[in-house]
Parts: sequence; structure tokens; C-alpha cells
Amino acid sequence: MSTAIVVGAGIGGVTAAVALQRCGWQVTVLERAPELGEVGAGISVWPSAVAVLEELGVKGVEKASVPSKPAGMRKPDGRWVVGAADLGLELPVMIHRTQLHELITAEFGPAVIVRTGYEVRTVSQDADGVTVNGELQAELLVAADGIRSAVRGGLYPQYDGPRYSGFTAYRGIAEVELDDGGGETWGRGQLFGFARLIDGRFYWYGTANQAAGTTSEPTVFESWHDPIPRLIAGSEKILQNDIYDLTLPLVPFTQGRVVLVGDAAHAMTPNLGRGACSAIEDAGALARHLGATSDLPAALTAYDAERRPATTKLVKRSRSLGRVAQVENPVITTLRDGLFSIGGKLVALRGRK
Ligand SMILES: Cc1cc2nc3c(=O)[nH]c(=O)nc-3n(C[C@H](O)[C@H](O)[C@H](O)COP(=O)(O)OP(=O)(O)OC[C@H]3O[C@@H](n4cnc5c(N)ncnc54)[C@H](O)[C@@H]3O)c2cc1C
Repeated sequence: MSTAIVVGAGIGGVTAAVALQRCGWQVTVLERAPELGEVGAGISVWPSAVAVLEELGVKGVEKASVPSKPAGMRKPDGRWVVGAADLGLELPVMIHRTQLHELITAEFGPAVIVRTGYEVRTVSQDADGVTVNGELQAELLVAADGIRSAVRGGLYPQYDGPRYSGFTAYRGIAEVELDDGGGETWGRGQLFGFARLIDGRFYWYGTANQAAGTTSEPTVFESWHDPIPRLIAGSEKILQNDIYDLTLPLVPFTQGRVVLVGDAAHAMTPNLGRGACSAIEDAGALARHLGATSDLPAALTAYDAERRPATTKLVKRSRSLGRVAQVENPVITTLRDGLFSIGGKLVALRGRK
């Protein structure tokens, strides 16, 4: 049986473990946190990632429920800019991260061994295999150790790595009764979004421009349209994370017997809600290429050739969308909202024709 070590048990690492197990690998997952699990709030899972999860046998990530009220983009005073339906947008499945992580790890069989409280510090490799911390060996190492990946740092010490986006994000889960389709509200330098999770609760997020490392509260949203203040007030806990993505160009996703997946390879700003989805798609692509040939270097090269260009585009698009969303100049924000509104009307008109 071929053997793999997966470093990191975030969404990328656990999906990679399930994917490798399905194509006959013996997998050891090494996670430095004392327990397996995901913290955080909600997450959008787009249809392409749902398809990979379904293919891997992960059950329970259901199709998006259609909101009873329209979803779309609003101004802070509640006026609509454009409806999601006008733009013909598909809606993602909205799920709590903990639930998604549990649904994936529920598929772990006897071929997956998990070691928590284990920090990977060194990785060496030769023609026969990889060695972690001088003691654990395998034929393949999957680095799913996140944006500040130590494994990537070892492979590419000259690479600049994370880059601060200029904004911070607040997130929460609210248990409130609402009849609202959700969507995003864009202001001047701030954005607020919310959606109903498949478990019935509401997930919300907000962003604000500020210097990295500043602790702040989402007070600016208290004067925004209903139900935004209610969502914030209805949340037990509010998380705050500064938003980073990875410097472009991205480094090659493979070197020898080591392969990068998820944020370790292509961390992006959350504006498209595609970071974890891309990690899931990486896992599916990696298993597909490994299953197609017994030539390991050829499979890893094919994986890099598929996933690096695709995710580079997403890093760029997320970054650009983030810049547009975080604009502060009132003339530009008025122009921006006008363009979205006209664009929505044109798309809707074309759809009706
Ligand atoms: C505010 C915000 C909102 C987002 N919303 C969405 C969304 O709606 N949809 C979406 O698809 N994506 C979203 N994302 C992106 C998504 O969160 C990430 O892309 C995804 O979680 C990355 O998963 P990962 O497994 O690659 O990395 P991580 O989740 O960072 O996991 C890395 C794991 O590796 C472990 N680790 C690190 N170093 C070591 C080591 N040396 N040894 C052992 N273990 C180690 C860590 O403890 C961690 O468990 C959002 C991100 C943010 C910040």
C-alpha cells in the first residue's frame, strides 16, 4: 500500500486524507492543534466543491435552499443595488465550518491515522521517500498546513508568502428569527454579508479597512439597515481576523515528493468565498491524478499544471474584488454601485430575451 503524510487537518488536509484513502493510500494526518476540528463561523461551498465532496462520498452537504426573500447587494441604508437573481448567480451551500469538517472526517476509515498535538518542523526527501521531523516516513507528503505553511517555507525560503490585504474581517453566528434572503451590503470601506446556514442559524461577516494587528469591534455596522444590527447583537461570539492572501506569482505546488494543497498553496482573500472550496477541489484533483498513473512525479506535475493556473486566477479575482469592495472614496463608490445596478439590469434583460 502506498503511504502518505498529510500535514494539517484543516478542510484541505482532511479532504486530501479522504481522497487519498479512496484511491488506496495509507494516510497519516499530522495536526499540531491538540484536537481535531475547525473553529470559525460559516462557509460558502460552491457547486464545484459540493461535486467533489459528493464524489468522495461525503454526505450531508446539501444543495442550497432557495431563500424565501430575494438575496443580493444593498446599500447601508437598505436600498437595493442589484438582486442575485438578476445576475443569474448560483447560490452556494452555506454551512458551519465545524459541521463541514465533521462531515468530511466522518469518512475516515482504518486507512487514515490522525495524530494531533504533532507539529511538523522539518521535512527532508530523497528518491525513496519523505521524512518528517527525522522520524516519520512516507512516499508522499501533502502540505495542507495553511497560509503560513512551514513546509512551503522549507521548499521555497525566498518566497515572500502572506501579504496583508489592508482590511480585517469580523464573523459571527446569530440565532435570530429572520425572513431575509441575505446577501452583501457595500459601504465606503466596509462590507457586510449574511446568509442562512443549512442548520437554520445565520452566518454573517463584515470587513473594515485598518492597519494589520489592530483589534476593533464591528460598531460601524450598528447604523446599517435591518437586520444587520440584530445579527451582530444576536451573536454570542465575534471573531476578528486580518485578511492576508499569498504573494503572486504562486510557487510551484510540487517539489519532488511534496505537494501543496489549500491555503499553503494559494491562500486568497475571502471576497469570492472560494478558499476552502479550492482546497477541496485540490484534494479531488490530486487523487484523480494519483489514481491515473503509478508515476508519482508525473501525477504531481499534472496536479500542479491543473491547479496552479486555476487558483492563481482566483487569487487575482478575489484580490481585485476586495479592492473594489473596500473603496472609501464616495465618488468611486457611487459610480461602483451604479455600474453594478446597470450591469444587473442588463444581465436580467439578456436573460429574459
Ligand atoms: C474571514 C474568512 C472567510 C472565509 N470564507 C470562506 C468561504 O465562505 N468559503 C470558502 O471556500 N473559503 C472561505 N475562506 C477561506 C478558507 O477559510 C480557507 O481557504 C481554508 O480554511 C483553508 O483550509 P486549509 O486546510 O488549506 O488551511 P487551514 O484551515 O489554515 O488549516 C491548516 C491546518 O494546519 C495545521 N498546521 C499548521 N502548521 C502545522 C505544522 N507545522 N504541523 C502540523 N500542523 C500544522 C493548523 O493547525 C491547521 O489545522 C474564508 C477565510 C476567511 C479568513
